[in-house]
Amino acid sequence: MRVSFKQMIPQEFCLKCRGCCRFSRQDSVWQPHLLEEEKSEVAKIQIVPAPGGNDFICGNLSSGDNKCKIYANRPFECRFYPFLFDRKKKKVFLALDPNCAFVRENNKNLEFEEYTRSLIELVQNKGYLDILKNNPFLAQEYEGVKDLIELKV
Ligand code: SF4
Repeated sequence: MRVSFKQMIPQEFCLKCRGCCRFSRQDSVWQPHLLEEEKSEVAKIQIVPAPGGNDFICGNLSSGDNKCKIYANRPFECRFYPFLFDRKKKKVFLALDPNCAFVRENNKNLEFEEYTRSLIELVQNKGYLDILKNNPFLAQEYEGVKDLIELKV
């Protein structure tokens, strides 16, 4: 079953940005990880060398028009970004990536603050905590993220 989650960032904003879906390493922790329930529904995510560059991109990214080829069916982690689950030793936090261009432009915006507050409530629901328990690899050690709240996983 697909985890229901509505991304706040408009698609048009992401299409103009060349930040996401690109990685400095093939084994980057920033690459999307599929939930157990997505493994039968979403094609395996492959991180491949970027055309003409030293970096890597998600194999689902069409680098010409910057579109995700599986946008309507993209994994939960792609829809959840710029929020993510950050692991620090044995603790897990809901975190925000301040390097996301949308976050940089909107983090003082009331609507974004309200959205963040509602997400903090949402992820403390049993359903979300169960997702984390069943998919422990969702929580990675991310550098430079802002931890928002510790989760009792
Ligand atoms: S699946 Fe789509 S949205 Fe997710 S990283 Fe790949 S190209 Fe980007």
